[in-house]
Amino acid sequence: MVADLIEAFQHRSKKLNKIEKLKSKKSPIDTLNKLEEYAKNGYSSIPKEDLDFFLKSFGIFDRNEPNSFMMRVRVPNGKLTPHQAKRVGEIAIKYGQDYIDITTRMQFQLRFLKIEDIPAVLKELDEIGLSPFQTGVDNIRTIITDPLNQFAKDSYIETDDIVLEMTKFFWKKPEWLSVLPRKFNIGINGSIANRANVFAQDLGFVLASKNGEYGFNLYLGGKVGETAKQTNIFVKNSDEVVLLFKTIITLFRDYGFRDNRNKNRLFYLLQAVGIEKFEEAIREVSNYDFATAGTTLVDIENQNRDGLVELKNSRYAKLVIVPSGIFSGSDMVKASQVADEVGGEIRLTYDQNLYIVGVTKDDLSKYEIFQKYGKFDNPYFQNMVACAGSKECPYGVIENKPDAIKLANYLSENVPLENNSIVRFHWSACPKGCGIHGIGDIGFEGVRVKQNGESVSGAHIFIGGKMGKGAREGKRLIKSAPLSDVNIYVSNLMKIYREMKNSNESFSEFENRVLSHYPLQVLEFILKFNRAFPELAPLKVIENFPAWKGEKYIIEYLGKEIAKRLPKGHKFEAVAQKMWSHSSMDKFCLSFPKLDKIRRWIMDICGIADKAISKENRYSSISEVIKELERVTQ
Ligand code: SF4
Repeated sequence: MVADLIEAFQHRSKKLNKIEKLKSKKSPIDTLNKLEEYAKNGYSSIPKEDLDFFLKSFGIFDRNEPNSFMMRVRVPNGKLTPHQAKRVGEIAIKYGQDYIDITTRMQFQLRFLKIEDIPAVLKELDEIGLSPFQTGVDNIRTIITDPLNQFAKDSYIETDDIVLEMTKFFWKKPEWLSVLPRKFNIGINGSIANRANVFAQDLGFVLASKNGEYGFNLYLGGKVGETAKQTNIFVKNSDEVVLLFKTIITLFRDYGFRDNRNKNRLFYLLQAVGIEKFEEAIREVSNYDFATAGTTLVDIENQNRDGLVELKNSRYAKLVIVPSGIFSGSDMVKASQVADEVGGEIRLTYDQNLYIVGVTKDDLSKYEIFQKYGKFDNPYFQNMVACAGSKECPYGVIENKPDAIKLANYLSENVPLENNSIVRFHWSACPKGCGIHGIGDIGFEGVRVKQNGESVSGAHIFIGGKMGKGAREGKRLIKSAPLSDVNIYVSNLMKIYREMKNSNESFSEFENRVLSHYPLQVLEFILKFNRAFPELAPLKVIENFPAWKGEKYIIEYLGKEIAKRLPKGHKFEAVAQKMWSHSSMDKFCLSFPKLDKIRRWIMDICGIADKAISKENRYSSISEVIKELERVTQ
């Protein structure tokens, strides 16, 4: 009921956060009206509050260098006609050092813009129906949808017009300009494959069926660290979608929390009142009896296997793999020429690539752009996502985009995968998670790490994020690894995947079938041991690992596996039988000095009674064993 939302809102309304106070001082329109003046008088004439907040309402971001702005441009449905794409490329060449980023919301960013040029850039974008308005701060961000809706064979509901209808409601409308408590993300996916990252949104419309009709189930409350939860609402046509969208966005505007900015996404309002009460409020405010949920049909992850998608009209959409989304104006112009000649269009994707829609197979050898980007057509690049990183974003702690490319190049060379493999690497340069690292098969969150007394770039490594039915955030596998070690850990994981995968099995499916049987710490231990002792045969992963037998079993198992791998020329059968004596250990360690440091530890994990360790503590925990491994191999 709305009364529940009011009560929750009042409870969190004791004080306003700084941004809300700033927003109450003036309207963003005042800043927009001054843009020409700022352009004339130069960067130094812009007040701090405009640089820090109000310009962002219009998608204009002050970046690390003075007078070097980033502009994030909304592209409804990720769709660019050949003419639009050509003009976008030309604008990037003319004003933005020929640089274009494709982002995770199917839009693009121009960089290196001078304030003197920004009015002209806005005008040129406006001429082709594009604008950066409301792509930053407390606004309804670009709505993500399946870029191949209406074209792809698994697309059941065309969503372009629904997205346009929703966008029309708020885009460039002063009454919706930065009025929300926080940003608001929306996704709509009318296809079986999740090509819209739809479970990660504050509001997700997810393909479903009910009584023989296709429509959408409503999911709410996704954000970094949380996948959206299913509600008990089903909508069957665009009118219902738009009504539901308007109702929810109004409720969020009116009752979303405005005290602590770290806890004011829709998720927190839902958490405070419960999803059922929120549904009651939706029905009450809309005065409409929405049907109860149907069966969710979005079933599989986005799968860019060969980047060539057959369309309903027997032509193809060819994916141009753009590493880390780093594109250029010149190549956008080239892509526009191809789209023009084949009578097609361009669609930007949430994983920072682009489709040229409408090509034939013969076209693939005809156009240079396919050759140029074809070299990235391998599983490490196909589904890779990386946020802006420290060079472009003040929050970033690692460079990120180059780091992601470096790892993908390293793996392409050292652990090449067959093209029937799929692995999704997602990189964010800070916990804000714009690189959607939580839903990657393997996610990376940038951190600073101490290595030999120096602060170096590193990452937390996450594993097991899912995007299909049963979408969920990944879990942290390894904390704070320097990037040089990240290479080693991920190579090891990819070797395991390559050796054990079934034909056509994606990493996500492999993770479900094999790796998910392992407690995370055991997997962590295996990777860390293999990194510490490259001279030994690597510890393997096995199918159906019997973790249910308990920690004592696991530690003994690991101990025996290590013992089996000790160098040739030594007979350690006794170890496997848990009868390794101190003297045999001494002899062994003399011949293999590095292991001398961990002798006591090996004995311990082999289950050998050591008088210094009491019986109760012998199998202290896998985490302790990992800590000890790190200590002795430093
Ligand atoms: S994740 Fe952090 S560093 Fe990356 S774009 Fe977002 S805020 Fe910036």
